[in-house]
Order: sequence, then structure tokens, then C-alpha cells
Amino acid sequence: MTEKMTSQLAMELENKHGAHNYHPLPVVLAKGKGARVWNVEGKEYFDFLSAYSAVNQGHCHPKIIGALIEQAKTLTLTSRAFFNDVLGVYEKFATEYFGYDKILPMNSGAEGDETALKLCRKWAYEKKGVPENQAKIIVCDGNFHGRTITVISMSTDPDSRDGFGPFTPGFIAIPYNDLAALEEALKDPNVAGFLVEPIQGEAGVFVPDEGYLKKAYDLCKSKNVLFIADEVQTGIARTGKLLACDHEGVRPDILILGKALSGGVYPVSAVLADDEIMLTIKPGEHGSTFGGNPLAARVSIAALEVVKEENLAERAEALGKIFRDEMRKIDSDMIELVRGKGLLNAIVIKPKNGKTAWDVCLKMAENGVLAKPTHGHIIRFAPPLVISEEELREAIERIKKSILSFE
Ligand code: PLP
Repeated sequence: MTEKMTSQLAMELENKHGAHNYHPLPVVLAKGKGARVWNVEGKEYFDFLSAYSAVNQGHCHPKIIGALIEQAKTLTLTSRAFFNDVLGVYEKFATEYFGYDKILPMNSGAEGDETALKLCRKWAYEKKGVPENQAKIIVCDGNFHGRTITVISMSTDPDSRDGFGPFTPGFIAIPYNDLAALEEALKDPNVAGFLVEPIQGEAGVFVPDEGYLKKAYDLCKSKNVLFIADEVQTGIARTGKLLACDHEGVRPDILILGKALSGGVYPVSAVLADDEIMLTIKPGEHGSTFGGNPLAARVSIAALEVVKEENLAERAEALGKIFRDEMRKIDSDMIELVRGKGLLNAIVIKPKNGKTAWDVCLKMAENGVLAKPTHGHIIRFAPPLVISEEELREAIERIKKSILSFE
């Protein structure tokens, strides 16, 4: 490539040669460090998306990048046709870290969800005694679990589903944060599992009522139904605890993790469960060429160590409070609602003089803060958890200035 790269050229290239399955803000990033990123021309921003909560440990964390480079020079991929000398070390580390008997490593979050669904169905037939092909899994309206056909079969979002049928059967959708609906759905004896996001991230950071997760878990237990938590976005310290389920002392039967499991350095996801569930899947019944490769394993160990070494959960808890307090002080009728937990927060925007959440995000980008609207009127704010209080306060000032510019 001889032509000098510019933001304009990069956007033209993506538009011309890439599928149009995303609608990005017109910002072209070329570098990242900690909570900050820079565009091609060198303009600095605070990153308040963190690659949808994958970069919790901050951009290019030296410890994680160090592990990546060292392992990349030694061995990257063997497939699971052979053992490798890192995977077992990772599996021991991660199962102790999260407190489960076994881990099943995959790559993307959607694959983690698919894995959990297969595991739940297999358990239903082998252990619970559900008649063959009759297992059902309860999911919630407004869920987001990824983009594969089966995963969108669980979705209630027309943008995710329309034009992609026919869908995978076996799901029952109930309203989120509705225990009566869950209780009713659990009356069906063929229900095998309840799949839930402890906070619905993509839906716009919907935080359920306090006690919802614990009561939902207890209801599931009373019907011998697996409680499956999708913590792909909420996990790994994002909400102020290692897992969002920890806020209510709930230990999911099946736990799905992704994104920050690698600090956003490499696609790593995983499903954790105890032997009674995990060992229902036998050799040849599930897998992935890249899942559990030595590079992923090393990177993930380093990423998880950083979370503890740098007290990221405690930081998210404390900084999240400051963020919400300051957002609630902004005197603008464009702010309808501020909600969230830890450093997973959102502002619901009321359009003003034709200006929407998209316009607010463009203004924030101009002022050096990157965030993206979800569902048109909600802006999610999720900076890397390594952001310092000083950086957070500076970012808050830029957000205030942006919103007030519409007054
Ligand atoms: N589950 C949840 C809760 C998510 O938020 C996401 C992505 O945003 C996924 C699953 C899908 O992850 P991936 O995009 O890595 O497939």
C-alpha cells in the first residue's frame, strides 16, 4: 500500500469492500492505550464503548500483550486433535478462578451461547429425563446473545430476526424481570433451562429489580431447571463484581463468558459448569478448531490475572457511582434516565429539536469521547475499567459539554 492512510480513505475502503452489516460512527481508530484511543490523524478520545465491554483491562495492556507475543513465538494452534502444554494449565486456572469443575473453551460469545444451549439440552435428555427432542429453554424478551441462526431464534428483536427464518424451535420467550411469567413458564415439565443476561446490555443496560436473579434461580431449582447466565458482556468485573450474578450471590449452573476473558486481545469465550452437566457432552459431539488454542489460553490467563491484580471490580464499583451521580446532575431535558451498575451504564435520550442519541454521540466524538447509541435512543457508557478517576472526571466534563450544547 503506497497511498498515505487517512480517516477518509479508511472509511472509503470499508464502505467499498466490506459488507454493510454495521453502521459505525465516522471515527477511524489507529491506536489505543489504557482508556484512550487515537484516530489516524492523532486526535485523542476516551473510549466509552470498550469494544462492547471486551477491553475491560484497557487497550494494549502490557501484561496481556506480553503473554500474546511470547506464546505467539512458541506455539499458536494445534487443534484439539492433540493435547497442548498450555490448555490444561488454563483450564485449571480458570475453573479455580470462577469456581466450577470444568470449562469448555470456544472463541466468540455467540459460540459460547450455542455451547450452553447444547449442554443444557444434553443434560435434559440424559439427566432430567426429558423425552427426546422435546427440551425447551426459556429466554427473555429483549435478549441479545449473538448472531447465529439458533441465537437469533431466541431473539425478539426484528432487526436481528427479520429475513433470516426459518428459526430453531425449542425456545419460550417471557418478559425480562418478570418472576410471575417465569413461574408460569416453568410449569412445563420439558423445560430444561432458563437463559438470562443478569443485566441486558445490548437492549440498553436494563438492570432488573434487586432480588430478581436470586428468586429466578430459586424458582429454577424448585423445578430442576438449569439457570444459565450469559455474562459475556456483564462478566469479568464490568458491573462492580467479578460476575454480575455475584451481586445476588447466585452461582449459575452454566456460566457463559467471552469478550473481556481475553481483555479484547483475542477472541476467547468459554462455558463453565460442574461435571454432572459438562460431562454429558462426549468426544466428537462439540468443539471448534481454534477453541482452547495455546495462544488463547495464555492470553486469557494474563487477562484474568490483570482483573485481580488491578482490582478492576472494585474500581468499576466506585467509579460507576461517580459516573451515575455526575450524569444525574446534568441539567438537560434530553436526559430522560440514567441507569446501570458498576461501569456498565446508559443514558436514555429524549430527542430535542430533531436531535437524537446519534447526534449526541457525534458531538461527544467531536469533544473526545466515543460511545454508540443502541436502539436509537439509548447511549451506553462503558469505559475500560482501568480508567483513572481523573480521566473519568475529564470524560464526564466532555460528555456534559456535549449534551448541554443542544440546550
Ligand atoms: N451475549 C451477550 C450478552 C452479548 O452482549 C454479546 C455481544 O455483544 C454476545 C453474547 C455475542 O458475543 P460475540 O459478538 O462475541 O459473538
